[in-house]
Amino acid sequence: MTTFEALGIDARLIQATDELGYVNPTAIQEQAIPVLLSGTKDFIGLAQTGTGKTAAFGLPLLHIIDAAAKYPQALVVCPTRELCLQIVKEIELFKKYMTGISVVAVYGGASIGLQIRDLKRGVQIVVATPGRLIDLIERKAINLEQIRYVVLDEADEMLNMGFQDDIEFILKNTPARESTWLFSATMPPEIRKVSRKYMKEPKEVTVGKVNTTNKSIDHQYYVTTAQHRYETLKRIIDFNPGIYGIIFTRTKLDAQEISERLTREGYDIDALHGDLTQQQRDRVMGQFRDKSLQLLIATDVAARGIDVVGITHVINYELPDDVEIYTHRSGRTGRAGNQGICISIVHAKEMYKFKQIERINNSQFHKLDIPSGKDVCRKQFFHFMDKLLSADISHGDYETYVPMLAEKFADVSKEDVLKRVAAMEFDRFLKYYENAEDLNLRERSKREMGERGEPRRRDDRFEGRGDGRREYTRGGYSRLFVNLGTKDGFFKASFLQFILDMSDLKKEVLGKIDMKDMNSWIEIDKGAAQQMIRSLDGKSYKGRRIRMNDADSGGPAGFSKRPRRGEG
Ligand code: AMP
Repeated sequence: MTTFEALGIDARLIQATDELGYVNPTAIQEQAIPVLLSGTKDFIGLAQTGTGKTAAFGLPLLHIIDAAAKYPQALVVCPTRELCLQIVKEIELFKKYMTGISVVAVYGGASIGLQIRDLKRGVQIVVATPGRLIDLIERKAINLEQIRYVVLDEADEMLNMGFQDDIEFILKNTPARESTWLFSATMPPEIRKVSRKYMKEPKEVTVGKVNTTNKSIDHQYYVTTAQHRYETLKRIIDFNPGIYGIIFTRTKLDAQEISERLTREGYDIDALHGDLTQQQRDRVMGQFRDKSLQLLIATDVAARGIDVVGITHVINYELPDDVEIYTHRSGRTGRAGNQGICISIVHAKEMYKFKQIERINNSQFHKLDIPSGKDVCRKQFFHFMDKLLSADISHGDYETYVPMLAEKFADVSKEDVLKRVAAMEFDRFLKYYENAEDLNLRERSKREMGERGEPRRRDDRFEGRGDGRREYTRGGYSRLFVNLGTKDGFFKASFLQFILDMSDLKKEVLGKIDMKDMNSWIEIDKGAAQQMIRSLDGKSYKGRRIRMNDADSGGPAGFSKRPRRGEG
């Protein structure tokens, strides 16, 4: 493994990266830095966010800038103000031991007067969003005559956002440009065109796979009707009690309205969109980042460049038109070695679009049933009970109260105590979900409306499957409990394979699989349930006895319900 020293960067920069805890250069840094240090070679880096590309261009820029010349020499253009600020912040950290270099961020939505004042102070590096930069050029507040290096960061995003003309304008109006460095997560034809037109024999480097979706993301989708979209969103949130996520909408109005409605209903959510002032945006982002806000609802434009660690779920309230946007949305989760889930709410008319995204992303997408009210309550209930069980009682002086409590509860059984706790916590939730309707769009409902054939029994159902085929499943599902989970080293796919191999059943008999650390719940055709139980119950796995039973005929899993919002 190479070192920053070996790449040839200034010792003062190495001192700073050392302090930041960068031990070795990342792949993109290793390949980009030696090329960029020459200052004369054009460069294309195909790398996703999170690969260390800011340092890949930031360190060489600082190395080759002339600190004595007090005019803009380097221009970094990026799609959003968040990214602008993030880049400037990192460059500031890198240049900690250098003197005489200044860097400024110019972006829309903030006072242009203050930015003009900053530019006049004699900066060498300008980090800008395209729109604001053009504005500054038109006001003659920035002079690009002596710009030697242009960096286009997240070039695909900028093109997605319709900045192609602006980018070309900027490239045309930097006559002293010695090299152009383009970074992009993907390589659509428009970027090829720009590079052919404005770059000379660029060195091209690819880190990881381009145009593929992150494998640590589980892509899921729910099919519902357009009018049930909001209710489905709520159900998804309620079904994931520990969620820390971003919900994407297409319009500002949707983001705002849904945020307000969910807030009124007790959810911990705020909106991020273009109509907010800078101050409002900073406040919302700050809260989300430090996790005092559980959910963020955002438009694509407003959310670009946001890099928050630990996001568990990305929810597409509506599908984006563009496959690339889907990739960018979903890429907010499943980062830094974590697993993430990207959920899309789609209705029948959008299925064609979804198929396209699925094909281009080359990932397997899982269609799941929208949880029933009972599912939600059960999930919330066990989440709460898990918290109850893991509560830290090692510090408080609880022992003192035990004799009094024992006396008070002398005539109440443990089961009754649990029921009472459940009732206190879950009453509101239970009532809300008591008669919750099935939000899934099912073929059955068409049939029930008399489109063809006789009415069916309520628990018969058609399952729409990912490949467009339909399967008729008579008699509905049973839910099986099994004492195997992720702690046993299973992922969903390996678990599925295991239970199917053991039982000699086909994948088609299975419905939803819900895996926890220690246990899992399996939906299975009623007719196949006994075969699965017979094949697994009592057998052993890694020396442990497998226990499997029908969760809905008594037992712990039959004991359901509750909700409380904003837990996590
Ligand atoms: P970026 O792709 O530029 O957004 O960087 C992703 C994250 O990786 C940032 O938090 C950087 O501070 C961090 N990072 C960049 N380069 C290195 C490195 N060589 N070693 C460790 N962390 C790094």
